[in-house]
Amino acid sequence: MTARILDGNAISALLREELAVRAAALKARGITPCLAVILVGEDPASAVYVRNKVAGCEKTGLRSIKDVYPAAVDPAVVLARIAELNADPTVHGILVQLPLPKQFDADVVLEAIAPEKDVDGFHAENVGALMQGNPRFIPCTPYGVIKMLERGKVVLKGAEAVIVGRSNIVGKPMAMLLLAKSCTVTVCHSQSKDLAFHTRRADILVAAVGRARMITGDMIKPGATVIDVGINRTPEGKLCGDVDFESAKEVAGLITPVPGGVGPMTITMLLTNTLESAERTLK
Ligand code: NDP
Repeated sequence: MTARILDGNAISALLREELAVRAAALKARGITPCLAVILVGEDPASAVYVRNKVAGCEKTGLRSIKDVYPAAVDPAVVLARIAELNADPTVHGILVQLPLPKQFDADVVLEAIAPEKDVDGFHAENVGALMQGNPRFIPCTPYGVIKMLERGKVVLKGAEAVIVGRSNIVGKPMAMLLLAKSCTVTVCHSQSKDLAFHTRRADILVAAVGRARMITGDMIKPGATVIDVGINRTPEGKLCGDVDFESAKEVAGLITPVPGGVGPMTITMLLTNTLESAERTLK
């Protein structure tokens, strides 16, 4: 039997309709939710992500500010701009598109963002709050995965969840969120022995590695929910995930495609975090 598809575009469209209503309600009270995005350098993938984030704001009724700096910019210039945005009461969310050029210490930049405007959820204070089970902003990609699992009515309590990848932006926060939902969580990485042994035990398998089609159907438990976070390019220039969709869909019960799965959800959750930040200013 072929797996059911968890359609990120469709779930996103529903969530964005709700966000547009909330944005309009805020505007009626004199507050226009605003996201500031900082892009440094000319990395083409980063430029596309930033363009999509700005477009997402426009379509949902959020204001956006886009600051673009050349790759050779002095980090002090960017830090000064972050300080300005921190102090601006009309700005509710600030994000710096990663990766940054070599002269930057990304941790210093992320820590410079006011925690109450850190809509990516990467500031140490927000990471700590998530760890304590009291999140202020949940990092957008794992947040989107949780929303997809909820919409797909996937049973989380007691489920075996296996995450492949332990990055600060996807794997680690994903583990915390699934743990908070009472999954039994295993996190695999490049040094894990016998990856397939772990993935085959997973009721919920999240792949966040960045290696095209590395998770094949024989590594998946029949009926499992498979969430593919990876975004890779094939030699022919096509987008594909970390999961080999063709073989995986014959084994899994529920699966996300690439493109059209986790990707659109990530931006939707960024808009959600920005809107929530703006709503908090009323409290
Ligand atoms: P990172 O490169 O930061 O992390 C990759 C992780 O995969 C690391 O923990 C690494 O292990 C692990 N890994 C590498 N090789 C193997 C292997 N052979 N077996 C098991 N684990 C391995 O990537 P990100 O977390 O930033 O991103 C992961 C993927 O998700 C990328 O394709 C990225 O483009 C995509 N992405 C998609 C988003 C979306 O919106 N859909 C958002 C963010 C990312 P180790 O720690 O030991 O090095």
